[in-house]
Amino acid sequence: MFKSKYLQRVFSECLRKNPGEDEFIQAVSEFMEAIDLIVDEDPDIERLGIIERLVEPERLIIFRVPWVDDAGRVRVNRGYRVQYNSAIGPYKGGTRFDPSVNQSIIKFLGFEQTFKNALTGLPLGGAKGGSDFDPAGKSEGEVMRFCQSYMAELFRHLGSNIDIPAGDLGAGAREVGFMFGYYRKIRNEFTGTFTGKGLSYGGSVLRPQATGFGLCYFAREMLSNLRGEDLKGKRVVISGSGNVGSNAAVKAKELGAIIVGMSDISGMIASEKGLDVEFVKELKDGRRLISEYPLYRTDVSFSADYRDLWKVQADIAFPCATQNEVKLEDAKNIVKSGVMMVCEGANMPCTAEAIDLFLEKQILFAPGKAANAGGVSTSGLEMSQNAQHISWSASEVDAKLREIMKNIYQNCYRTSVRVGHPGNLVIGANIAGFLKVYDAMKAQGII
Ligand code: NDP
Repeated sequence: MFKSKYLQRVFSECLRKNPGEDEFIQAVSEFMEAIDLIVDEDPDIERLGIIERLVEPERLIIFRVPWVDDAGRVRVNRGYRVQYNSAIGPYKGGTRFDPSVNQSIIKFLGFEQTFKNALTGLPLGGAKGGSDFDPAGKSEGEVMRFCQSYMAELFRHLGSNIDIPAGDLGAGAREVGFMFGYYRKIRNEFTGTFTGKGLSYGGSVLRPQATGFGLCYFAREMLSNLRGEDLKGKRVVISGSGNVGSNAAVKAKELGAIIVGMSDISGMIASEKGLDVEFVKELKDGRRLISEYPLYRTDVSFSADYRDLWKVQADIAFPCATQNEVKLEDAKNIVKSGVMMVCEGANMPCTAEAIDLFLEKQILFAPGKAANAGGVSTSGLEMSQNAQHISWSASEVDAKLREIMKNIYQNCYRTSVRVGHPGNLVIGANIAGFLKVYDAMKAQGII
């Protein structure tokens, strides 16, 4: 429990008001544990009701998404958009299409996004959206009809200075294309209201790769600053081989690491010599499964249980699949397998117990809200390009991304030092993100 009486009161009220929203409560609890170190130093935080306001989204939109499948049957999904906090800029956050999506998941993602966006140094508020729609196994026509129906409601809440969605889990370039196309048609305007767009219609080079690449830049900075070491020669395991995981694998290999294990929902593959990560990416880009990899490559072991990934001997772990995928049992395996650094590519992939174990064992740990901020940072760059009607080259975007990730790391690290917990980036990231949002909320009155 928190030492601040103020936080104790706000947290128990938050529990009362959000029954059954486990993921949201988990995110709030991690945040409060960190700011517990500073919250009582500044009486204005309580006087202005800052934390009460932060645990309440500015707006939550829930809507029906009806569409017709290929057999002519009517299907109905539930759509969400949480416009979480706009103190430092317009709402910005991705769109998740996955059967697990519910109010708790959307709210936790919007909450995390608020502080992540603050850490990027760009003027972006926090948001997140999605639906319990599962694109897997759907035809292209079904996915398009669903995306159009989703947008037929959501469009009225969006705008390039209001709320700018992007993709996320289950919503890649194809889904963003369908959503942006429909938005453009019904609004009759072509603006930068989406990021993650295709290159031919205003997208930024490197946006698809940015979260995974940014994760590697962050990890490199952290390893060098805290251990005086480099990614070169390090054995890396990566869970999830979607957008974040596969691009992290490609960049980590390029930076000299050996990718010894990867996974997806069909299982995990491992190779001491290093996996052919370009081939994994090719498989996944073709919407195929990692279980097919051993059919084409030798020197590889396969298990149908993706959690066996955490038993592979490695130096670094990048959990890049989904929330709470690394449970205490997995964390114990990660410790046993010799890992010295865990950087979260996904949002909140490690449970609170797993993080506690890593910190207790002095394993370097980077929370997602800092380490995976490369995607939204590059979205910020895409918005700047769209607003100015220009486009930057891949090397320009990459250089900016590297600089942003370095700054995020240094901001988190400096903050951890200032509050007496040097190198604890959970504390550093949460406090640094909070202070920026707090400052803006304080200046703008009670709204
Ligand atoms: P994708 O849908 O592209 O990929 C997710 C991958 O994870 C897929 O390979 C999926 O397998 C796999 N997977 C799902 N659950 C598990 C599991 N329990 N164990 C192992 N693998 C699993 O999503 P993204 O890569 O875009 O997103 C991944 C995470 O990163 C999410 O938490 C997202 O919020 C976060 N994130 C994404 C950003 C982005 O720019 N895309 C930005 C910042 C954060 P299969 O392919 O078989 O379904």
